[in-house]
Amino acid sequence: MGSLVPIRLVCGEQVIWQNDSPNSSYWCRPIFFEFVKENKITILQEKNAIEQEIADLMDTEVGEINISHSLLMTMIDGKATSILCDTSSQRCDICKATPSEMNNLSLIASKQTDLDLCRYGLSSLHIWIRMMECILHIAYRLTIKTWAVKGDTKCILESKKKNIQDAFKNRMGLLIDVVKQGHGTTNDGNTARRFFANPSITAEITGVSENLIRRFAIILEAISSGYHIDVVKFHDYAQATMQLYVDLYSWYYMPSSVHKVLMHGAAIIESFSLLPIGQLSEEAAEARNKDFRRYRQHHSRKCSRKATNEDILNNLLISSDPLISTKRHKFGRKHKSLSKEAQSLIIERAETFDDDDQENFEIANVDILDTD
Ligand SMILES: [Zn+2]
Repeated sequence: MGSLVPIRLVCGEQVIWQNDSPNSSYWCRPIFFEFVKENKITILQEKNAIEQEIADLMDTEVGEINISHSLLMTMIDGKATSILCDTSSQRCDICKATPSEMNNLSLIASKQTDLDLCRYGLSSLHIWIRMMECILHIAYRLTIKTWAVKGDTKCILESKKKNIQDAFKNRMGLLIDVVKQGHGTTNDGNTARRFFANPSITAEITGVSENLIRRFAIILEAISSGYHIDVVKFHDYAQATMQLYVDLYSWYYMPSSVHKVLMHGAAIIESFSLLPIGQLSEEAAEARNKDFRRYRQHHSRKCSRKATNEDILNNLLISSDPLISTKRHKFGRKHKSLSKEAQSLIIERAETFDDDDQENFEIANVDILDTD
C-alpha cells in the first residue's frame, strides 16, 4: 500500500498550517494498493513509479496563490530501506558496516558514509521494535555470551528465552516474541513502548543493564516526540550509549538498525532540518494495514472483487479526508509529557500557527510500500 500524509503548509518562514498528528491514520491518504508479493523487484518498481509521479507534479493554483509541493519518502520500514539503499538487512544502509564490524567503534568511525541515503529517514516506529529485540536477544544470551548460537547452547538459550517470556507475561501482561499465525510476531509498537516505559522492571526481568535500557528509551522518546532535536546533544548522547553498549556486551554484534540510529541518527535528523524526525514516521502507514483489513472484512461488498476494492478505497479516502479530520475532536493526544532526559535533547522552537486555514498543504510525506 502506498500512502501520503500532508505535514505542513508554509509561506516563506511562516507556517500557515501544521498537521498536529502526522502519525495518525486520519491524515493518511491512500495512493494505491496492490496485491503482490513484496520483494526487491516490486519495491523498486513502486519506488520508481512514485518518483516519476513526484517529478511530474504540477503546482496547485488556488485563485492567485500558487502552491508547490515537496515530498519526502520516509514512510518506509527497515526492510524497504535496505532494498532502496541496495544493502542486505544485516549491513548498515549508510556506512555498509557488516555485523562483525559493528562493535569496533574506531573502525566504524573511519568508514565512509553515504549521506544521500539519509533521505529515507529513520523508520521511527520500527526502531522501537528493533531496539526492544536487541535488548531481548542480549538477555537470551547472557549465560552463553556469544552472538552465534549453535549445538547445545541452543537449549540454554531457549530455556532462558522461555523464562524471560513468562516473566514478561506474568509481571507486565506482555506477550514477547511469540510467533503469530500468518504475520510476524507479537512484537509491535505498543509492546515495545511498554517494554521501555519502565526500564527498572525491564532490567530486572531481562538482566540487561538498566542504564542501557534507559538510554535506549530516552533516545526513542526524543526521536518520536515530534519536536526538533538538538543534533549535537543527540550525537553525543548516542555516541556515549554506543560506548556503553560495547563496554557491556561486546560479544553481541549491534544490530544494523540500532547502529543506524546511534551512529547516523544525528546526520539523518540534520538532513531533515525543516521538520522534526518524529513527524516523518511510518506509523500512520502501518496503522493503515489494520484499517485495510477491517474495511475489507466488515465494510465492503463481497459480490465482486472490483466492488470490494472500490469500497475499501472509498473507506480509506473518507477516513483520511482532510476537511473531516480538521473537525474531529482531539482527545488529549497533544503534549504528552517528555521525561527530563529526553527534554534535554530537544530544541524549543517557536513557530507561528494559523489554525483557521487548514485546507491546503505543501510538504507531504510519501510512503511507497507498506511492509507489515
Ligand atoms: Zn553505519
